Formats: sequence, C-alpha cells, structure tokens
Amino acid sequence: MTVPARRLFHCLGFGESALGWRESPDRYRFFDRMPQGACIPMGAGLSLAGASFGEGVRSVEMRRFDRILDFDPVQGAITVEAGITLGRLFEFLAPRGWLVAVQPGYPDITVGGCVAGNVHGKNPLAHGCFGRWVTALELAHPAHGRLRLSADERPDLLELTIGGFGLTGWILSVTLRLLPLPGGPVVTEPVKVDSLEQAAEILAVRKDGADLLYSWHDLAMPGRSGAGLVFVGRHLDEPKVAAIPGRCRALDQDRRALPVGVMNRAGIAVLNRMQAWRWRGTKSQDAAAATFPFAANPEYFYLYGRNGFIEHQTLIPWDMAEAYIARLRHLLDRHSVTPGLCVMKPFGGAPCLLRFEGDGLSLAIEVARGRAALALFADLDALDVELGCRANILKDARLPAAAVAAQYSGLETFRSRLLAFDPDRLMQSSLSRRIGL
Ligand SMILES: Cc1cc2nc3c(=O)[nH]c(=O)nc-3n(C[C@H](O)[C@H](O)[C@H](O)COP(=O)(O)OP(=O)(O)OC[C@H]3O[C@@H](n4cnc5c(N)ncnc54)[C@H](O)[C@@H]3O)c2cc1C
Repeated sequence: MTVPARRLFHCLGFGESALGWRESPDRYRFFDRMPQGACIPMGAGLSLAGASFGEGVRSVEMRRFDRILDFDPVQGAITVEAGITLGRLFEFLAPRGWLVAVQPGYPDITVGGCVAGNVHGKNPLAHGCFGRWVTALELAHPAHGRLRLSADERPDLLELTIGGFGLTGWILSVTLRLLPLPGGPVVTEPVKVDSLEQAAEILAVRKDGADLLYSWHDLAMPGRSGAGLVFVGRHLDEPKVAAIPGRCRALDQDRRALPVGVMNRAGIAVLNRMQAWRWRGTKSQDAAAATFPFAANPEYFYLYGRNGFIEHQTLIPWDMAEAYIARLRHLLDRHSVTPGLCVMKPFGGAPCLLRFEGDGLSLAIEVARGRAALALFADLDALDVELGCRANILKDARLPAAAVAAQYSGLETFRSRLLAFDPDRLMQSSLSRRIGL
C-alpha cells in the first residue's frame, strides 16, 4: 500500500493548480476502502484543465493498472485495465492489424482518461469520440463497490461515466471495439488554404472521406486571415508493417518549460513559418507518427514558458462558422493576442450531458496565459453563447460555471444523476468545483 504524497499539481499549460495528495495503488483492494475526504481518479495527468486533482483532494493515480486482460483478434475487441497508455496499446495492436479508433495526439495518455474525457482523435466526424467505441467497463465507487456497466447493465451509469470527468468513480477496466489497421503507412496530403473560411469549406465537404482530417492555421500574419493547411490523411492498404511507436519524449512541463516564454507574435510568426515548411508536400509517415504527432515534439509546450498557456476549443454549428471566424479575428485584434496554435476539425455525434460532441466545426486556439488572454476568452464565452457554440470543458482551464450553464443544456441532468448516484459527492476536482458540480 502506498502512502499519499502531498504535492502541488498543475494541469498542462499551468492554467489550473492545486495542492493535494497523490496515491499510486497497485492492488484492487485499495478500492474497497472508504476514503477519507474527497478523491479523484488520475490517469497520466496530461489534461489541459485541473480534471484529475483539486485543493485538498486525493488524486488516485491509475497507471499501475495497465494490463491487457482479453483480446479477440477475430471480432476486433480488447479489454484492458484503465491505466494502460495509448502508446502501449498501439504497440500491442498495430502488429496484429488493429487500431484504437479514436486517439489524442500523445502516447502517454491513458485509456481511463480517454473514457472519462470522451476525447476525440483526428477525424471526429468519421470516428466519433472515444465513448462510441466502449462496449463495457468496470467501475469502482466507495459507496457502491464494483459495478459492471454495459448496454445491458446500468446503461444510465455507463452514459454518465463516459465524459463524466472521473466523477462517478474509478474506471478499472474497459472493453473497446477496434478498427482494422489496413497497413503500415499513412499518406497525408496537405491542402494549402488562404483563410480559415476556406479550410472550413473543405472540412465540410471532405467530411468522412478520410482517416485523418483537420486543419492548422497561422494567425500571426497581418490581417489574420488564417492561411494554413488542411491535412487529409489515409491509411494505405499495403502489406502490414509493424508500426511500433518511436521513442516518446516525456512531456514534463514542470521541469522543462523555458523561464520566459517566446510565444509572442514575432516568435509565433517564426515558428509558424518553420511548421509550414516542415509540413509542405504529400508525406508518408508510419501510423504511429501520424497518430501521436506530439510524441516527437513535446518541446512545443515548453515554449510558452513558466507562465504557460490556456486553450479554448469550441464546437460551432456549421451555419455559424463564418460569423464565428469573423468575430474571432476582430477579438484577436482588439485584445492584441496571437494564438500559438489554431486547429479546426469537423465533428459529428449527438450532444449528451457534458460531452463535447455534436454536428459542427471545432475551432481550438492556444494562447500565452495573461491578462489579455483572459479578457479575450471572456469575450469568446459570450460569443459562444450568442452563436450557439459549446466550449470543451476538459480543454479550458478557466471556463466559468456560468458559461457551462449557458452552453450545456445537459448540465442539470448530469448534476441530478450524479447526485442520485453519489449524494455525498466523494469525487471532486478543481474542474468539478469550478464549474459548480
Ligand atoms: C499532447 C496532447 C495532445 C492532446 N490531444 C487531444 C486531442 O486530440 N483530442 C482530445 O480530445 N484531447 C486531447 N488531449 C487531451 C487529453 O486527451 C485528455 O485530457 C485526456 O483526458 C488525458 O488523459 P490522462 O490519462 O492524462 O488523464 P488525466 O488528465 O489524469 O485525467 C483526465 C480525466 O479523466 C479522469 N480519469 C482518468 N483516469 C480515470 C480512471 N481510470 N477512471 C475514472 N476517471 C479517470 C480524471 O479524473 C479526469 O477527470 C491532448 C493532450 C495532450 C497532452
């Protein structure tokens, strides 16, 4: 049994911090004890908001539960402990011709974090979000013991747990449907665009015809047209190559962030030139490099310095995309803020509870943290409400409760179902407290 260690937690980007305790159990009997005070499950702790820690909260790290429990190579299904990372799972599955359908861009992220965040991958319109691929899971909650959840067993609780930010308890294991991996390489064809609007049109039309579909934009140029590239990627149907991920460089912002950030307008302009040059022309990459682009470049996050960055990702109804982009441009100028990153993706699925899903265009910006960024994001909150958009709760470390209440019609249902399941609200985090849960 491990002894809890007191420590200061930060989310990725330093946007939310708290002093709490960390425990790393390695035995299932840990989950049979009634905890003292508030707890929250922690995966790899790589979220951009304080979702797996909180002030005075015990973060229970799940990474030691990382075994593969069952694999069906005929049907394409796997059962894993929730602390397994996407990278380890990739290493096991790719040589056997299978793939987890929805994967965020960094291999140290855990399966438990993907379920609780209902995360998206590189073509959320074609593949949906992570929860679409979950067929069953085992949950542990101090007041309820261990529960098996599936379409036939407590489907209501399964729904609450997918995208439930760990608030229903510890996910111990997960059964996933898999996607066949046709071959080793992924060919990505970048389409040059002059503006965000042009990219939005392409993303709307190409919709589900690609394995990877997203765009990247340079907003440092005068006029902020958002010239950039739309990436359209396809797995090649070629002889299978064992696509093992290369060396993943650890993302350790606590130790390696630059003392002073270089992500000002001039620094971003130089970086964007370099990126555009690197990404020019059709490229063939192995599937691992295409799946986990940040594995080779975690240094990008250190460039913001110790003051860090915040992200705002919003899901815009297609018919509001043009209006949103025009207003965003205006707000960036008004607040003199230049995003270090701007990415768009087409989305699908049905909005449910607090999940970031639904038909529309997602637009994410990352900006250096500071007074101007906070003023910009406050205006973006108002714009989201005005145009019927929804911000991604797991990506925005300062999203206020009022914005969540105005944007998510499922908030009250989520709250009442959570309270019915856990009236004592044993699981809490900085995120849950900030958004008033
Ligand atoms: C480089 C990088 C790229 C990313 N790209 C994307 C992307 O493309 N799309 C996207 O959607 N997200 C992306 N993310 C965000 C990331 O996928 C999510 O924040 C994910 O939830 C992080 O998982 P984690 O294992 O680090 O979990 P943590 O950050 O530790 O926790 C996240 C949430 O999951 C809960 N949780 C974790 N494990 C369990 C468990 N076993 N049982 C119950 N609850 C649990 C926690 O309580 C918390 O609420 C990216 C992050 C990074 C660092």
